[in-house]
Amino acid sequence: MKVMKFGGTCLGTEDALKRTAKVVKNEKREKIVTVSAASGVTSSLKDILSRPMQETEIDEFLLKLKLRHVDLLPKRDGSSRKEALEMIEKKITKLDRLLYGVMYTEELTPRTYDLILSAGERLAAVVVAARLSHLKLDAVAMETDALGLVTNNEHFNAVAILSECEKNLRPSLQSAVGKGILPVVTGFFGITKNGHVSTFGRSGTDYTASVIAHSMKSGPIEIWKDVDGFMSADPKMVKNAFLIDRLSYEEAAELAYFGAQVLHPRAVQPARLRGIEIVVKNLYEPESPGTYVGNSKATRKDVIKSVSYVPKVSTLKIYDTGAGYKSGFLSDIATCLTNEGINLFSATTSQTCVAVIIDESDASAAKKAMKTHIAGVGESFEIEGGRALVCAVGEGLGRTKGVAARVFKSVASKNVNVELISAGASTVAYHFTVGQKDLRTTVRQIHKEFFGYV
Ligand code: ASP
Ligand code: MG
Repeated sequence: MKVMKFGGTCLGTEDALKRTAKVVKNEKREKIVTVSAASGVTSSLKDILSRPMQETEIDEFLLKLKLRHVDLLPKRDGSSRKEALEMIEKKITKLDRLLYGVMYTEELTPRTYDLILSAGERLAAVVVAARLSHLKLDAVAMETDALGLVTNNEHFNAVAILSECEKNLRPSLQSAVGKGILPVVTGFFGITKNGHVSTFGRSGTDYTASVIAHSMKSGPIEIWKDVDGFMSADPKMVKNAFLIDRLSYEEAAELAYFGAQVLHPRAVQPARLRGIEIVVKNLYEPESPGTYVGNSKATRKDVIKSVSYVPKVSTLKIYDTGAGYKSGFLSDIATCLTNEGINLFSATTSQTCVAVIIDESDASAAKKAMKTHIAGVGESFEIEGGRALVCAVGEGLGRTKGVAARVFKSVASKNVNVELISAGASTVAYHFTVGQKDLRTTVRQIHKEFFGYV
């Protein structure tokens, strides 16, 4: 059974939707479809929640949102259009009540936030199911909270509890597919054990696809997007960057975690547990093979396969003369930061200092957290902003002599100062920080060193 995931750009316009429907229709194997929100919808929901709302603003916002989805429905299709219109209406009404609730109470809890954010996928599933029904497929929109895609309680960054998901998703999806129904499942969110909607973070539908495939013990997973797949580098920086045809799970996970915007950082994990292959495909070049992610441990002669980056990070340094031997020091720092919802990209320690890399947007929250807790966790701290994180990935990197030397020598030859380096934790990736002004040079230099051109 195939799990086919369609991202927002595959659903945002009539043309994109027609292509999506064709791809699904042409797939003759048993399949489950999962969809993101139409492009821009999640961002617009986040946006309206980010500031005080006015009644008129809510009304205008919802009208626009409704019309956008109504416009995406097949035009001439009596019964399924009518049914879809009713469903859209219901979802908009619920969203209306939720937004008014937030406005009047001036309170937005993580639970409500995630519930509101999930509206984009619910609307998209209705539209896609209607489009597929129009092509005479027996498509039915299904929602992952109702299906029981159970997660932990971490709102915005929830993790699926795979054993529970399997127990809930497998029987219902299996029986639907057995009856010839094509499930069109909402991406991006699940439900906590207490019954609250929880989202997976931006691009979370990739993760949904992987959780579904894990539950069904079946694949492959196709991730349909508007790009070809994983590239040797960001083509905006390296003009001649090329498509990578095959990556190991570990390589893809490191690249996704360190900035390659191709896959949700956690999407690899459930698939990998069951050895299910992931294929990234371009809706606008469906014949292009895309990138396969699977068990292959193939090593390139020059080892490095791709270089990715996170453009804006900060380094938080916590000083303590006993940092190196104080037990629990690192975990105290980690707890202090994760309690504030701050994600740590990486940590390095020495005898007198622990340095952690965080997203630049978390820097002020990190500062506040450290100020409050510094007495408990160290003597002093500082935050260095303006940094970028670069990651070079390739199977065999941990076993091959001279790769690290080549990476750093090539970068040094351009006078770039490499700051924090992490090598060895992953056997397939090095990552390090440089000043933001040196990011482009660094990425290009590594590409040139390992591929001979930029
Ligand atoms: N709609 C969500 C987002 O834009 C999830 C997804 O696209 O997968 O981040
Ligand atoms: Mg999206």
